[in-house]
Amino acid sequence: MTNDSTQPPRSFPARLLANKPRSDLSDAQSEIRELVIEVDEPSFNCSAGQSIGVLAPVPAGSDEPFYLRWYSIADIPDRDDQRRQSVTICVRRIVTKDPTTGEEVRGHCSNYLCDLESGAELTVCGPKGIAFPIPSDQTANLILIGAGTGIAPFRSFIKTLHRQHPNWSGVVRLFYGTQTGLDVLYANDPSDDLKQYFDQETFAAFKALSPAPNWADPIAWDLAFSERGNELLELMDDSKTYVYVAGRQETRDHLDSLFGKLLGSANLWSLKKQELVAAGRWAELIYK
Ligand SMILES: Cc1cc2nc3c(=O)[nH]c(=O)nc-3n(C[C@H](O)[C@H](O)[C@H](O)COP(=O)(O)OP(=O)(O)OC[C@H]3O[C@@H](n4cnc5c(N)ncnc54)[C@H](O)[C@@H]3O)c2cc1C
Repeated sequence: MTNDSTQPPRSFPARLLANKPRSDLSDAQSEIRELVIEVDEPSFNCSAGQSIGVLAPVPAGSDEPFYLRWYSIADIPDRDDQRRQSVTICVRRIVTKDPTTGEEVRGHCSNYLCDLESGAELTVCGPKGIAFPIPSDQTANLILIGAGTGIAPFRSFIKTLHRQHPNWSGVVRLFYGTQTGLDVLYANDPSDDLKQYFDQETFAAFKALSPAPNWADPIAWDLAFSERGNELLELMDDSKTYVYVAGRQETRDHLDSLFGKLLGSANLWSLKKQELVAAGRWAELIYK
């Protein structure tokens, strides 16, 4: 699934209900905000694991009609109005530097969304994709790995899993990590709904929280995985285990190198991963 500026699926008018920070960092480069968007269209229906598209306006004189970017659905609040469906997304504000000029480059859509005020009108499209289907076998094991905003799809996934399958008996292992941790993203929120699953017998969540100001700190991930390496490898050998990964490209690359180390060689991991993919037991949602 990629970002695309042309030929969007059918679009819908929407309204921003809330826009609040989900990180305690003051520098914009690391800011993550949670947005609740209400879509004014009775036929708009979405489910856990899907993404919605946002059509951000372009500056005057631009050749493009809009900027279309996709965001994983982090939560689907209960529908209390048959006409309108709300969705929650988690947006990381992108601020980078032009490698040649050193000038600041602000991501078009992420900054548009992060700066949007409650009550503002916007245009969305989709939803699309079911990145992470819930297996039909309630004894299946799930290894969920979400770095940074990659935690977003797993939030709605876990909520749906426990709501629709309260007797799920397979083990569920969630690995997550950000610059400031899920504590900041979700767990410190009194209304948090992910935390309530932490006491489920089969559910365990592990932080790969970076001690350094780098959300994808390899050291934190190395530690989180090496401590549970044997359990992970045993689970992956079980034909009932599904591995779902979400986040940025470098997370996936780093995971490949980590699993290579755990298995003893990059080649062995490549074969194992091919086996998982072929059996439909490995799925990933990777973005830039
Ligand atoms: C299926 C899917 C789901 C996604 N889910 C989420 C999500 O839940 N939350 C979320 O925040 N994003 C998510 N993304 C990424 C999102 O769609 C945008 O790509 C992101 O917000 C940047 O768009 P932009 O318009 O702000 O930046 P652009 O204007 O496209 O880029 C501006 C500059 O920033 C650089 N850049 C772009 N993205 C990044 C990045 N991530 N890190 C560093 N530099 C970058 C570009 O190379 C460019 O130089 C998802 C993408 C896909 C395909």
